[in-house]
Amino acid sequence: MNYQAPRGTYDILPDEISKWHYLENIIRRNAKLFNYKEIRFPIFEKLELFKRGVGETTDIVEKEMYVFKDKKGRIFALRPEGTASIARAYIEHYMTSSQKNPLRLYYFGPMFRYSRPQKGRYRQFYQFGLEYIGSPQPIADAEIIALGMKIYQDAKVPDIKLEINSVGCPICRKEYNTTLKNFLFKDKEKYCSDCQRRMDINPLRVFDCKNDSCQNLLKNAPRMIDNLCTDCDNHFKEVLGLLKKMSVEYNVNPYIVRGLDYYTRTAFEYKIDYLGAQNEIGGGGRYDDLIEYLGGKPTPAVGLSGGLERVILSLDKSKVYIPDEDSLDVLIIPMKYEFICQSIEILQSLHKNDISSIIADSQTSLKNNLKYCDTNKVKFAIIIGEDEVISGKFVVKNIRERSQKKIIISEICDYIFSNLKLV
Ligand SMILES: [Zn+2]
Ligand SMILES: [Zn+2]
Repeated sequence: MNYQAPRGTYDILPDEISKWHYLENIIRRNAKLFNYKEIRFPIFEKLELFKRGVGETTDIVEKEMYVFKDKKGRIFALRPEGTASIARAYIEHYMTSSQKNPLRLYYFGPMFRYSRPQKGRYRQFYQFGLEYIGSPQPIADAEIIALGMKIYQDAKVPDIKLEINSVGCPICRKEYNTTLKNFLFKDKEKYCSDCQRRMDINPLRVFDCKNDSCQNLLKNAPRMIDNLCTDCDNHFKEVLGLLKKMSVEYNVNPYIVRGLDYYTRTAFEYKIDYLGAQNEIGGGGRYDDLIEYLGGKPTPAVGLSGGLERVILSLDKSKVYIPDEDSLDVLIIPMKYEFICQSIEILQSLHKNDISSIIADSQTSLKNNLKYCDTNKVKFAIIIGEDEVISGKFVVKNIRERSQKKIIISEICDYIFSNLKLV
């Protein structure tokens, strides 16, 4: 039997990992700059949380969740996104605390959605997210949006575009839903069955349809942005004004609704146009009602999430230089197995000084060991042969400079340590 990773999942091999660290470091650094604190939450939660948090009629909940029963018959789902869990954790841990200041959180981790795998889209995929909980003010929206943009720019994602919209609040959306329903029902039979079913219960979700003919029919649909209440309209204008002040460029796109029910007011997406159909690399919005809806006190919040796979693909395309942080400092090469004791002695003193080092296989030829150093960007090689053991002086090769020096054992560490900085 040949085992392979399940369809839609993949291994990140050691050769690839430096790109992930590169990206994760940029996210962590920026999160720290704005005082966002890391939160980790379970891979699975009660199914009910996502049904209620993400929305029963969303594609995610209707079609894409991994749902399972545990041995006691309780029903769980692998997390398809992070915000519902964050809201749950917020209610569980912070709701009753005296903390009055807004809470800034960030997270990393795998998410799971059963969708058709394609380039840059997987069933187990990695996301980062930022959440700003406790502020209704437009500056919170602008901070999140600008911080997301800064992360993509620091990661050198080329030609990134920001699109923004307002999806209103329950007050203006109620009225808009009626207007939208009237529009949709005029041509009800022309839409696909999913749309027909959704137009009654949750008409805004019709915009998520991936069907071209449905999208065509929607071209003349009334737009939320033209039907905002005064408060939502003012909020939206203020967010746009702040983005301008922060020199964050954007386009208003009235068709951004995000595929989740919890958004209110601001909704936005980061896009690139060179990865085919997968042009959205991140996005988010305000979710003022979610925490209350899940059983907490009314708590306004705004957040974003981004998939890491598509960013990695864009880095490959733009050929960003990513330093290989994992390359080995020293390969110790015993010419015979009997020199293993001297090798261990050197190995231990290098490790004490935090210099990464391994002992080469003594059965491999010197030539092949040096070749290994070349192809794996090893910085130094120390050769332990008959002459060296007798004289107590060992050959230390600087691989990149192709130079070498004979050094007594007690000085090897110091020599390598001071030369590592120059390599
Ligand atoms: Zn409103
Ligand atoms: Zn449709």
